[in-house]
Amino acid sequence: MQLKDLEKWNKNLPNTNKMPVLFLGHGSPMNAIEENEFVNEFRRLGQELVTPQAILCISAHWETSGTCITAMNHPQTIHDFGGFPQALFDVQYPAPGSPELALETQKLVTGTAVHLDDKWGLDHGSWSVIRHMYPEANVPVVQMSIDYTKPAQYHYDLAKELAALRNKGVLIVGSGNMIHNLRRVAWDKLNAPFAYDWALEAREKMNTAILTHDHQTLIDFKKQGTAFDLSIPTPEHYLPLLYALALQDDHDEVQLFNDEPVGGSLSMTSLKIA
Ligand code: ZN
Repeated sequence: MQLKDLEKWNKNLPNTNKMPVLFLGHGSPMNAIEENEFVNEFRRLGQELVTPQAILCISAHWETSGTCITAMNHPQTIHDFGGFPQALFDVQYPAPGSPELALETQKLVTGTAVHLDDKWGLDHGSWSVIRHMYPEANVPVVQMSIDYTKPAQYHYDLAKELAALRNKGVLIVGSGNMIHNLRRVAWDKLNAPFAYDWALEAREKMNTAILTHDHQTLIDFKKQGTAFDLSIPTPEHYLPLLYALALQDDHDEVQLFNDEPVGGSLSMTSLKIA
């Protein structure tokens, strides 16, 4: 059964030109239904990029013990938040899954076991951004979970094992926020371009490290002092960045976009690696 599926995969997804890799700052779930400068950029990206055969998304909102990958044909739209308007709960993003991509990923990764999952689906870390890129939900989407028991270096190394998918028409997307401290949000300034000093300092250091290919500083985020500690109180929104950076090769260039602070303690900074 598995072998047959893999043969089908090879037929369906021939080698392609190398796909870009993205890290998308997703911010508030309301970005899924609001119009603003950030979602305009997601939309523009969807129009600019070669349409992928499938998307593999590493979302901040799926943490597990061990690594899982969604392998169902029809992933459900998960509304994993509370206290938002009904309009947000009404959103469905019926993109198909791709059991073939799940199997291929399972086969590619040798550093750890990747478990095929039939229960999760698409959480808002993936659908709130991908729906702007592909509003017709016509590109299959697979999610891979973040193993919360593992350190940053582990995630960076795991992501490197996914590199071959870039030549199979797969768009790999990390979805999180580099700076994400919900306890410190200035709720009255959520729509203003305001940032605390420590958030500005961290953004500057992170952007410099990204643009100078200094990945080790970013992997060692716990050793970078107070500004990083306040920006990354928990790692789940930051780690998807490391997945994207790990896939950067010597021929790639990195472009920053949506490089804006929001609410004092969040940043929407996003990357295109191509
Ligand atoms: Zn989030």
